[in-house]
Amino acid sequence: MIILGIESSCDETGVALYDSEKGLLGAALHSQIDMHKLYGGVVPELASRDHIRRIIPLLDQVLSEANISKKDIDAVAVTEGPGLAGALLVGTSVGYAIGLALNIPVIGVHHMEGHLYSCLLAGEDLKFPFIALLVSGGHTQIMKVASPGKYELLGETLDDAVGEAFDKTAQALGECYPGGPAVSRFAEQGTPGAINLPRPLLHADNLDFSFSGLKTAVMNTIRLAEDPSAQSFKNDLARAFVDSVTEVLVKKTVKALKKTGYKSLVVAGGVSANKQLREGLIKACKKIGVKVYFPPLALCTDNGAMIAAAAASHLQNIKTLPKEGFSIKPKWQLEGFQ
Ligand code: ATP
Ligand code: MG
Ligand code: FE
Repeated sequence: MIILGIESSCDETGVALYDSEKGLLGAALHSQIDMHKLYGGVVPELASRDHIRRIIPLLDQVLSEANISKKDIDAVAVTEGPGLAGALLVGTSVGYAIGLALNIPVIGVHHMEGHLYSCLLAGEDLKFPFIALLVSGGHTQIMKVASPGKYELLGETLDDAVGEAFDKTAQALGECYPGGPAVSRFAEQGTPGAINLPRPLLHADNLDFSFSGLKTAVMNTIRLAEDPSAQSFKNDLARAFVDSVTEVLVKKTVKALKKTGYKSLVVAGGVSANKQLREGLIKACKKIGVKVYFPPLALCTDNGAMIAAAAASHLQNIKTLPKEGFSIKPKWQLEGFQ
């Protein structure tokens, strides 16, 4: 079965063709980062307009590169939410129009479920049950996933998402949005322990997170620094930030694994590309005999392939959109999402 995946929830237009037997047939992506950079973050109206400009050329590109005719597509999978309303409307209306024109089903996919299933694109055979650590620009959640489509939220951030904290730290260090990769690069050159930052909620008796205080601690450290523009200072501060975030995420994830007794961990979302976090999780999971699944590095951030892969992984659990019209769900929660 060939599924066309469409993602347009934020600032990436992603289109992909996924074969439920053969895997990914082709993918095309346009990132709006350069456009939004000027403003220090995503401007929703500009995002919607750019999705409109890009989506059809990307669709043509992926069909021609995969050498697939429109008639070969069996279903369309499109991000229905959560995300920016205007941006979601572009992807869903294009997906819906293709479904009507070709008389094939249109499947509304939860964006975070797309992230979660992106490890399938690394050729992994995902077995239930597992713990999911979802770390992205808008989410920081630990989910218990007992069976396909069954999500139980064990803990989440009480304020900023971890990706947002990376972006704000990068911005304070003079780097452009999105700043995760720059902070990670700086941290590699920094000295561990040269600067100390708090580990928010590390000892709290729950699986929740908080990153806004950490962000303030980063700002205060910069304010009090003798030479905040020195590269060695930036490296040490990035190191301190990454070490704090990694320790908190790893400890809480291990806690969730021990609490449930589950032996598999799926890590997904843009921050799952982070080198230090990957190393920390691999090391901790090895100690307790847990297998960790990551997406391919290039597919950690938003893309169309993950949306098609999520739809293919459990088609039987996903409702197709009604023929008479479609909706978007900008605030959709993954827990109890069906
Ligand atoms: P959501 O998925 O919650 O709706 P989003 O789609 O905007 O949010 P993603 O595309 O999954 O988020 O991830 C983007 C985030 O990932 C950004 O905050 C970015 O800084 C972060 N990120 C990307 N690469 C890295 C990295 N190597 N290290 C740390 N953070 C990273
Ligand atoms: Mg993005
Ligand atoms: Fe995302």
